[in-house]
Amino acid sequence: MKTMQHLDLESRKGKAPGGYNCPLAESGAPFIFMNAAGQMGDVTTMLHEGGHAVHSFLAHPLELSGFKEYPMEIAEVASMAMELFTMDYWDTFFENTDDLRRAKEHQLERVITIFPWIAIIDKFQHWIYEHPQHTHEERTAAWVATLAEFQDDVVDYSGLESYRSNAWQRQLHLFEVPFYYIEYGIAQLGAIGMWMQYKQNPQQALDNYCTALALGATKTLPELYKTAGLDFDFSPAKIKSLMDFVDREMEKL
Ligand SMILES: [Zn+2]
Repeated sequence: MKTMQHLDLESRKGKAPGGYNCPLAESGAPFIFMNAAGQMGDVTTMLHEGGHAVHSFLAHPLELSGFKEYPMEIAEVASMAMELFTMDYWDTFFENTDDLRRAKEHQLERVITIFPWIAIIDKFQHWIYEHPQHTHEERTAAWVATLAEFQDDVVDYSGLESYRSNAWQRQLHLFEVPFYYIEYGIAQLGAIGMWMQYKQNPQQALDNYCTALALGATKTLPELYKTAGLDFDFSPAKIKSLMDFVDREMEKL
């Protein structure tokens, strides 16, 4: 991709914002677009999009374009798992050992904190669409109540009420893709499951990852998860076991 100049990573004046991997149907070699800004997010975005790129390469040989239009619940397993698989090699990016440890810690915090945020957004948008006649005040009250339901009791948010009461506005999905957010949770659980396999047997995990991704969208989501060696199980007990695993990995940092 580098030789073909398919990596446009740096920010520059006039460049559009955002970051994505764009599959290219003719050559099969995708294109990664992002805006590096000298932050840790540069690394995780590039690795994340790199996971999508591997998925593009693996699914490219499939005969029909429709076979390559896989659902997000597997697409984001490819990318989110790549973020986690590569953590053992992050010393390439972070030379200072304190920075390296902080970066890994931050990554695993995100893996955990994404879940309450998904729950908040999902619950809030159900309320919005079930109450189409709601007023501005009712909406703010519903948001604040939803936030309170899932918030921690460790951080003192006092004095920030006015900011927090509008915080839903930073979630683009609420405006543009209704009911499309829970998919991130499904995929993140899959990615943690892939990482758990990787910690036990890296080669087997990578084989499962490649075999599943190479199927593109030719199988159903439960079949893709099965091929990847993942349980298609989102029960509280399963979620707890995955979270306990992440917690143990954080302890090791
Ligand atoms: Zn992605």
